[in-house]
Amino acid sequence: MAIFDAHCDVLYRLHFEKGLSFAENNGLHITYDHLKAAGAKVQCFALFIPAELPQEIKFKTALDMIDVLHREILDKHPDIRLVKSKADIERLKDDEIGIMLTLEGCDAIDTDLVKLRTLFRLGVRSVGLTWNNANAAADGAQESRGAGLSDFGRKVVEENNKHKVWTDVSHIAEKGFWDVMETAQYPIASHSNARALCDHPRNLTDEQIRALFERGGVIGITFVPSFLNESGEASIADILKHIDHIASLGGEGKIGLGSDFDGIETTPKELTDYSRYPVLIDALQKHYSEAFVKGLLFDNFVRALPE
Ligand SMILES: [Zn+2]
Repeated sequence: MAIFDAHCDVLYRLHFEKGLSFAENNGLHITYDHLKAAGAKVQCFALFIPAELPQEIKFKTALDMIDVLHREILDKHPDIRLVKSKADIERLKDDEIGIMLTLEGCDAIDTDLVKLRTLFRLGVRSVGLTWNNANAAADGAQESRGAGLSDFGRKVVEENNKHKVWTDVSHIAEKGFWDVMETAQYPIASHSNARALCDHPRNLTDEQIRALFERGGVIGITFVPSFLNESGEASIADILKHIDHIASLGGEGKIGLGSDFDGIETTPKELTDYSRYPVLIDALQKHYSEAFVKGLLFDNFVRALPE
């Protein structure tokens, strides 16, 4: 079955860790072979720029990661294509896989909308305002101040709206979440779970999840073990619990997946890398209808893409 996965950190690892290769199975959760074997259709690749890098090199680092995407992935694998729209996804041939670029935190653009628009032109179709800490746009979910959007952050959301780009609330502090709900036309949560089941600041409360659904957003269930189970160890059974809970909040048709592969050191025990997706799909098919599973795996995120 076709899979749309809304978040992974392959580009971060390829850029910063020497010796890794997308073409070989030598340590990445997501490789060419894994995507092909498991039935990938669209994989979102995040640009994640570590907060500790000097500001002067953050934008350059984002460009370097896009360069890695082209040199190491797109140029070497003609059946992998950069997709920038729903139409691009619909045009993918049966044996082709789409890669969609996303920005995880606005640290790379500092306070410069030219940099944001440049990233749009290079293919970025989803923008999260923050990672876990604060930046010029907003505070992240683990910044103790917990402030909402700055004036610049509001401009970023307006720019996302104008360019029909998703605004991703997965890492933002709660106050900023509600600011985004008031301003974003295309909000999503690419990789977050239910706070009601696992009390972690990166997870969303029922009230937040309902608000996201009311605004047409989709939530990507993530495989981060500590967001699935407070013990820090998780299994597919935990993923199903989060899906059940979120479905009960009116989430039928609004739940997807955002694995966070290559952004996590440990995984749920049965999902050690992307090649194991079929094990999850088997479990989903035992619990839910065919239409529900198809929606969760692919259709729901694709439907939420702005036309
Ligand atoms: Zn993340």
